[in-house]
Amino acid sequence: MSKLIYLDNAATTQVYPEVLQEMLPYFSEVYSNPSAIYSFASESKKAVDKARTSVAELINAKTDEIYFTGGGSESDNWALKATADAYASKGKHIITSTIEHHAILHTCAYLEKKGFEITYVNVDENGKVKLDELEAAIRPDTILISIMTANNEIGTIQPVREIGRIAHEHGVLFHTDAVQAFGHIPIDVDEMNIDMLSASGHKINGPKGIGVMYIRKGVKILSFIHGGAQERKRRAGTLNVPGIVGIGKAAEIAKNTMAERSAKEISLRDHLIDRILTEIPYVRLNGDRHDRLPNNVNVCFRYIEGESMLILLDQAGVCASSGSACTSGSLDPSHVLLAIGLPHEIAHGSLRLTLSEKNTVEEIDFVVDELKKIIERLRSMSPLYEDFVKKQNK
Ligand SMILES: *Cc1c(COP(=O)(O)O)cnc(C)c1O
Repeated sequence: MSKLIYLDNAATTQVYPEVLQEMLPYFSEVYSNPSAIYSFASESKKAVDKARTSVAELINAKTDEIYFTGGGSESDNWALKATADAYASKGKHIITSTIEHHAILHTCAYLEKKGFEITYVNVDENGKVKLDELEAAIRPDTILISIMTANNEIGTIQPVREIGRIAHEHGVLFHTDAVQAFGHIPIDVDEMNIDMLSASGHKINGPKGIGVMYIRKGVKILSFIHGGAQERKRRAGTLNVPGIVGIGKAAEIAKNTMAERSAKEISLRDHLIDRILTEIPYVRLNGDRHDRLPNNVNVCFRYIEGESMLILLDQAGVCASSGSACTSGSLDPSHVLLAIGLPHEIAHGSLRLTLSEKNTVEEIDFVVDELKKIIERLRSMSPLYEDFVKKQNK
């Protein structure tokens, strides 16, 4: 099979043709700066307003609570650093979880150096935040709880509504990194008690380098990028009109297609999980079986080195991820897999396959067939596996 099979949609997605079409005029004919006074500017301003409405509607926010940023990472940085800044006189304690994206965890590490104290709440074996531990961690000087809506490696969906309720009962702000959830599962910022939310264009078939920050009215955080008066003085910089139009269109499509798309993804996902678990020995599914992103599969194979598996899958034309930091040149296993209690040697054999609704059953079956051969081949070269099998057969 010479065709590429792309199963890394948690890393990024393809821009939908409809999204690209919508964006194109704003690179060329409609190049005006939406902040200008002349009527040529009103065309791009109108496009930005429309996009803001589409994004707001996807999460049941008001349009003037939506701010456009340079991506999910910027939104995460903004939420944490600006809250820390604005509320430092109230307290210097922030609560997050051990399985957050590095855009949160590394920002927390930065804030620790600046004198803030961070509590990292543990998760259970399925990757769910322990709510009793979360509530017990709240102190009089706690200013913010930041917990992701859904995990980018193992797909576990958090009890966000409960987390928000706990935060508000204690008068603490609640931010959620919803980059993996936005456009993929229903989000309602009111019902879920969310004060701030991060989202990104390129995880929902929109362009890269454009993100969203939702800030509930009344939350008093200030600008993170200083400069001009754009975005109601809260995010300086000439608006990325094509990017904004792109994320707006992607949000609109995501809202209209969510039910059908996730049903298709869930059926592919469950077929993939079922085949792997029944046809490949010594494998473990990571993440919650039910509260799980529609497109996420994450498994660990014993006696397998994740990176070798990815290289062999690549040779078969399959784009996958180990969900570990290996890709960034480090051999440390994923902090998420360690946090759900896996020992290093098992965490090293992880494979993340994240689907899109465009994948087919034939593709999934091809991948499982290839994977079976790859696992068998790699295990046949592993002395540890040989010893293990000998012991099993005694
Ligand atoms: C991809 C991702 C980010 C970063 O978003 P960018 O737009 O790439 O900066 C942050 N958090 C999560 C959970 C992600 O999956």
